[in-house]
Amino acid sequence: SSQRFAGQNALITGAAGNIGLAVAKRLASEGANLILFDLNAEKLEEARSQLVSLGVDVHNAICDVTDYASVEKAVDEAEKALGPIGLLFNNAGYQGAFAPIHEYPPEDFARVVQIDLIGAFHLIRVVSERMVKRKFGRIVNTASMAGLQGPPNMGGYGSSKFGVVGLTEVSAKDLAPYNIRVNGIAPGLMGPGFMWDRQVELQAKTGSQYFSANPEEVKKQMVGSVPMRRLGTVEEIPGVVAFLLSDDASYITGVTMPISGG
Ligand code: NAD
Repeated sequence: SSQRFAGQNALITGAAGNIGLAVAKRLASEGANLILFDLNAEKLEEARSQLVSLGVDVHNAICDVTDYASVEKAVDEAEKALGPIGLLFNNAGYQGAFAPIHEYPPEDFARVVQIDLIGAFHLIRVVSERMVKRKFGRIVNTASMAGLQGPPNMGGYGSSKFGVVGLTEVSAKDLAPYNIRVNGIAPGLMGPGFMWDRQVELQAKTGSQYFSANPEEVKKQMVGSVPMRRLGTVEEIPGVVAFLLSDDASYITGVTMPISGG
């Protein structure tokens, strides 16, 4: 395979999750050393053991992206261990509750914003300050189709992911003078997997006019709204992230790319 990231260090948040791990594998296969941040220590260690076998350096940190001081400390330690971070895949996320906005639990709304939006800002804030000094950086934020078209019953998530799209545009402008590009991805309905099952089940329970109360029927309704009439797979994400992080995308910044089957 090509080695577009040879000698570079890539920081990935939510690295123990489905998408984070798949992207980590892809970046490592193209030569990047990896810095993996996640809250889940056990899954993070599993991810590390899979990735070291690819022959790259891997540095783990248990880091809560909602805690600014913890992000600063983890980034500092990672750079001491591996050297400058040139690539950031800002991907940790939480889907939140499913309820119409007039019943949405306020504490969950705050939690989703803390993880998905403020957490993403924390990473950009800490890492880009360092990138600016070196005049080099490539950042990809994981938004969602929920950040481009407001989904019913997902007030916390939809609002946060719209925020991530805005954060991407603002950051792209602020950082363009320093040879730092900032883009996003917007995955649509991805499956099979935990997020897909959870969303089908919880949408069915909301009793809203948009979906059946029967989860099997909800699956059909959702897939029926996709022009390509199928779910996306996690394997359809890493190539897009790698493209946006690479010099193949050298004139692209501020864009959030849908990965959604149309
Ligand atoms: P996942 O649940 O497998 O992975 C998310 C990871 O983030 C987990 O390992 C979790 O431990 C970690 N995490 C959660 N809160 C954290 C925190 N405060 N600090 C650090 N790490 C934290 O889910 P995934 O599908 O891999 O999701 C990755 C990203 O993709 C998320 O931002 C999600 O919103 C987005 N996304 C997923 C889908 C989908 O259908 N899977 C669709 C659109 C967008």
